[in-house]
Amino acid sequence: MRPLLGVILAALAALLLVFAFTGGGRQLPRMAEALAAKPKPVLVQCKGRTVKGRRCRNMTRSADGYCYLHHNQGQASEVPRP
Ligand SMILES: [Zn+2]
Repeated sequence: MRPLLGVILAALAALLLVFAFTGGGRQLPRMAEALAAKPKPVLVQCKGRTVKGRRCRNMTRSADGYCYLHHNQGQASEVPRP
């Protein structure tokens, strides 16, 4: 029975080491929080138009659907006149 006890103790010690190393139980709620409260912003093609009148090919995660170059086209006053 002695060798078995030694193995169990060693396993417990290793488990404790891993637990202490990873921050133990404190890390778990944070991980769950990160998983729950992070809706991935959808990557969409920019709705803006280039100077040549073509559809912008940039991809954006912006809520208005415009890339950093054309975010001003989302506002009506900034749309270039034909
Ligand atoms: Zn764009």
